[in-house]
Amino acid sequence: MPASTATSLLAYCRPGFEGECAQELAAHDADSGGGGYARAERGSGFVEFVLPDADAADRLARSATWRNLVFSRQLLRALGSARNLPARDRLSELLPIVQADAFDGEPRRWCDAWVESPDSDAARELAPLCRGLNAALIAVMKKDQMIDRRSRWRLHVCMTATDAGFVARAMVDAAAPWPGGIPRLKFPQAAPSRSTLKLEEALIVLLDDGERERWLKPGMRAVDLGASPGGWTWQLVARSLHVTAVDNGPMDAALLGSGLVEHLRSDGFRYRPSKPVDWLVCDMVEQPRRVAALMAQWLADGACRHAVFNLKLPMKKRYDEVQQCFSLVRDALAGRVELRAKQLYHDREEITVYARALD
Ligand code: SAM
Repeated sequence: MPASTATSLLAYCRPGFEGECAQELAAHDADSGGGGYARAERGSGFVEFVLPDADAADRLARSATWRNLVFSRQLLRALGSARNLPARDRLSELLPIVQADAFDGEPRRWCDAWVESPDSDAARELAPLCRGLNAALIAVMKKDQMIDRRSRWRLHVCMTATDAGFVARAMVDAAAPWPGGIPRLKFPQAAPSRSTLKLEEALIVLLDDGERERWLKPGMRAVDLGASPGGWTWQLVARSLHVTAVDNGPMDAALLGSGLVEHLRSDGFRYRPSKPVDWLVCDMVEQPRRVAALMAQWLADGACRHAVFNLKLPMKKRYDEVQQCFSLVRDALAGRVELRAKQLYHDREEITVYARALD
């Protein structure tokens, strides 16, 4: 029989960061009434956060959202879980959990259903199984008229083993719009480094469509600190921005030939532009608090309007370090700053932050 876990939240994260993901959910839980606890296994790529009742889960879900969580790639409301699924007909155990989820006394309708698996080495092998199960699930849901493309709810089945998984739901507007919470990006062959995908993903995950259009316009000016060999600069040049690339290391020749890049062999901690720029991006490998303080100075001085920066987290207390960096930036700007941050799919032991000073 399926075990009911309808009062829990399910978060996907980078394998190895389950502790930080759980700590962050626990901090939101403490702020919104408390009483919850995390079930997490290191390396599994997901955290189940269990609340005492549905009201507590609602309260936590209002405080902790996919957008404002740093270490969660996706945040779902778990409806139930099942183990020992029969290999010949897994859906026979999973569908009753879906059908039990009523909305206003009616069976809920779903805009779509995704069968996915966490991002761990073990669970990744489940991809073919998930694809087959997804096709079968959609077929049954269509036959039973459970699909309504206008619905704001999406059904998620998270397979954690060949015979076990969670059934969960997401409100489409409030959840990551990619299966597994991972935007699939193609490496642009002309880009000089794979780091380029980090900035591309940051701009997709941390900004919405309208913001990207308004805030990243051809002709705008940017500074890239720690730019060599040019993966982040490449993303800005691809959007026709003028970039001052600051690094003692070499820059990609084709980028320099674009006419949009000025390369300065200077120290990124000392360089300042003569006039304010639209964007500051920074991927320097340095202590996170040093980078956060530098970004805060630029923003507080009005030297840039928007900043995207990477905080490298090789230390043990990674969650605490991130909180200290955020406090440092907020204090420097007397709270008049918007911070958005995520551990992106292309981030390893690091997170990426977007910041802008508020008027
Ligand atoms: N974002 C780059 C890309 O996409 O190709 C990769 C940057 S790499 C991770 C870090 C860079 O920071 C190195 O090229 C290093 O030379 C540079 N760096 C480290 N400390 C620096 C400093 N104080 N000033 C300028 N550059 C620095």
